[in-house]
Formats: sequence, C-alpha cells, structure tokens
Amino acid sequence: MPKIVHFRDDCIGCFSCVEHAPSNWEIGEDGKATLKRSKKKNSTFVATITDVEIECNCNAAMSCPVGIIRVQDDNGRVIE
Ligand code: SF4
Repeated sequence: MPKIVHFRDDCIGCFSCVEHAPSNWEIGEDGKATLKRSKKKNSTFVATITDVEIECNCNAAMSCPVGIIRVQDDNGRVIE
C-alpha cells in the first residue's frame, strides 16, 4: 500500500495539506496538521493510503512550505 510520512514536529499549521486532501488531513488542537488514521513511528506519523489518494496527497506534499510530507509507493520509493 502507498504511504504518507509526516514529520509533524516541524509543521507550521499553514493549512495547505488540508485544502488539498481534506480526507487525509486536519488541523489538530495544537494548530499543527494531523494525518488522519496515522500511527506514530519514532518522530513521524505514518498512514497507508489507497491509490486514488495519491494524487491529492502529492499535491499536498508539493505545496507544503516546509517540506515535511512524503508520499511513498508500495516499494517505499518516494513519489513526492
Ligand atoms: S502543508 Fe505542511 S506545514 Fe502546512 S499544515 Fe500541512 S504539514 Fe503543516
């Protein structure tokens, strides 16, 4: 399954990921983006996504001003 990796500590809460992929992102009570249905892994949050969720999350990753969203394919290769 494709995956999103979010380096949440560095999030500045700009809202761009939520605008691009609202089914995967929301703003948490602390003002940072939260990756829905994710699990904490070391200092990151990781969520599996479906193929149809790849495009909007690549757009979210491209739009992130601090570059803390990675979208990976089935083999762990970084797509965006
Ligand atoms: S686009 Fe990046 S900096 Fe902006 S809220 Fe989302 S994760 Fe945080």
